Amino acid sequence: MRLVLVGPPGAGKGTQAEVLSRKLGVPHISTGDLFRSHISNQTELGLEVQSILDEGALVPDSITNEMVRKRLAESDATDGFLLDGFPRNVAQADKLGEFLAVDEHDLDAVLEFRVDEDVVVERLLARGRTDDKEEVIRHRQQVYRNETAPLLSYYAEKVISIDAVGEIDEISERALAALNSLRDEK
Ligand code: AMP
Repeated sequence: MRLVLVGPPGAGKGTQAEVLSRKLGVPHISTGDLFRSHISNQTELGLEVQSILDEGALVPDSITNEMVRKRLAESDATDGFLLDGFPRNVAQADKLGEFLAVDEHDLDAVLEFRVDEDVVVERLLARGRTDDKEEVIRHRQQVYRNETAPLLSYYAEKVISIDAVGEIDEISERALAALNSLRDEK
């Protein structure tokens, strides 16, 4: 299965992606995790993007797209993947479409995690990442509204929306049930 997860910062995408990746047997590809790993390993790319992550801004598309293209070309992603944090804007979504079209692949679904913004600020502050300061969180939410939320119209026919408020298990059940019904329809 080829899936994209979309949702505002703090919607629990990363946590759900871990669970879904295990249950569906596809790799969890998080662009945020890839960037953070470059930063902690102090690679050239890591040094280039560190201040951008700290501000809560988006890394330029050219850098991000190339990193994703390489990751999707790895053998574990041939038969499916779960993308978490990519695409983050319509230009990246166009690129993803191009990457997949090379092998005549397409996305199966886009899972939207719905939560109220104020609820998630508390959750994020508790997490304590370097980009989890309140003003940076607010900025990331704004970036989400302006840049990422338009993907929901872009992918309109593929979007499955899940209520992402509740216990972790409960939310994974909702997501899996929605994906199963999608599979049954096919
Ligand atoms: P995340 O872990 O998904 O919350 O991402 C953390 C940070 O990594 C974001 O605030 C951006 O600075 C950067 N980032 C992650 N994914 C992307 C992307 N697809 N495009 C641009 N920047 C990204």
